[in-house]
Amino acid sequence: MANKDFPLIFEHSKKGRTSYSLPVLDVEELDLEAEMDERYVRKTAPMLPEVSELDIIRHYTGLSKRNFGVDSGFYPLGSCTMKYNPKINEDIARLEGFSHIHPYQDTETVQGALEMMFDLQEALSEITGMHQISLQPAAGAHGEWTGLMMIRAFHEANGDYNRTKVIVPDSAHGTNPASATVAGFEAVTVKSNEQGLVDLEDLRRVAGKDTAALMLTNPNTLGLFEKEILEMKHIIHEAGGRLYYDGANLNAIMGYARPGDMGFDVVHLNLHKTFTGPHGGGGPGSGPVGVSEELARFLPKPVLEKQNGQFVWKDDRKDSIGRVKPYFGNFGIYLRAYTYIRTMGAEGLKKVSEYAVLNANYMMRKLENVYELPYKQHCKHEFVLSGKRQKQLGARTLDMAKRLLDYGYHPPTIYFPLNVEEAMMIEPTETESKETLDGFIEAMVNISEEAKTNPEMIQEAPHTTIVKRMDETTAARKPVLRYHP
Ligand SMILES: *Cc1c(COP(=O)(O)O)cnc(C)c1O
Repeated sequence: MANKDFPLIFEHSKKGRTSYSLPVLDVEELDLEAEMDERYVRKTAPMLPEVSELDIIRHYTGLSKRNFGVDSGFYPLGSCTMKYNPKINEDIARLEGFSHIHPYQDTETVQGALEMMFDLQEALSEITGMHQISLQPAAGAHGEWTGLMMIRAFHEANGDYNRTKVIVPDSAHGTNPASATVAGFEAVTVKSNEQGLVDLEDLRRVAGKDTAALMLTNPNTLGLFEKEILEMKHIIHEAGGRLYYDGANLNAIMGYARPGDMGFDVVHLNLHKTFTGPHGGGGPGSGPVGVSEELARFLPKPVLEKQNGQFVWKDDRKDSIGRVKPYFGNFGIYLRAYTYIRTMGAEGLKKVSEYAVLNANYMMRKLENVYELPYKQHCKHEFVLSGKRQKQLGARTLDMAKRLLDYGYHPPTIYFPLNVEEAMMIEPTETESKETLDGFIEAMVNISEEAKTNPEMIQEAPHTTIVKRMDETTAARKPVLRYHP
């Protein structure tokens, strides 16, 4: 890489340099002070960097090369499903008929776009086994909140105002207790047993008259399938609560098992994970929710319906929790997910699950003697190792994650889930070749050897990246976000 050793310089400004040239003014110059309210007229010029077009292009292209993405390398970030995002999605999302329409257009003029949304809803309904889908929520956590608000509306419609608690396993994604809290509930924890699954005895203990819902990920965040799901459904429904399915990572079961068939009442999906919406740079996401028939009347409105061959927005559900997103959600992500589903087809989506699970198990078995594997059974789309042994030698999980950067890999998710000490959560995804998996396995084996022979070196990693180990606390607490000339 030509630019690799080039220092990271942010200051390129040279007085008087510009990136534009305009023709000589041949009309009368506008007297801004006379035309505009004085409050809005600048007294001093904005302090912008003075650079040429080439300076700008090199600056941003240089920064982009210092980034790490799925398109540049292996990215096994557990619970994030950093799979390859097919480029045909981008072609479809850029079609003028989709990219140039406006949310205020009359619905008669955007029938094709609405048909795509309708078909996507139908496809997601089929994939999840849920009665009806709303595409509105903008992300997974937003879907969780939307789902919980529907569950709240359901209980309140039954005159049941004392259901204040949402049960969340100790292995749950951090957004689960957070969404429960934001939706006005108290999050209570249910323990995992020694197999890493929800402890049914503990679930029976915490479920009761105050239970609004159980929020569950299946497979859970350890990558393990909750085999007792039907019994759990029984316990929660007996207690009068509802079952919420966190379907952010559907990669393991798509085409094989459906949350609707497991008895879940509400589901959210992450189109930007399983369904190849690009993510990781904080771009727009999409977290559709699906509901059982019983909860459909609480769905966000307007609801997209088909009437006499026309697609229409219906605003008349009086029990709806209301709109949760302006306009119609993140439309560009719907297009990518729709394209993905249509190009894969039903058989293709089943293959996704097969390969995601196969890849994770292959890697897990190759590494189980090198790192501690706390839960020994076969995994689904991801698995969790513990760096406990290496930590005793002086190489913490954080150090080893940094060392992986030297080998050219994005580190796995670390220190999560919380119920595994020195956790490393690895999700290879289905899109990686055996050679890539083997390369990563080899790097992990090498690092475990380095932990024995030279832990000090690992403590100082990364050594080959342009930016060395950062002070992450200061970066988070005191970010420098503004250009100061
Ligand atoms: C990613 C993820 C979420 C949150 O999704 P966002 O789109 O980041 O809000 C929730 N639950 C699980 C299990 C996830 O992996």
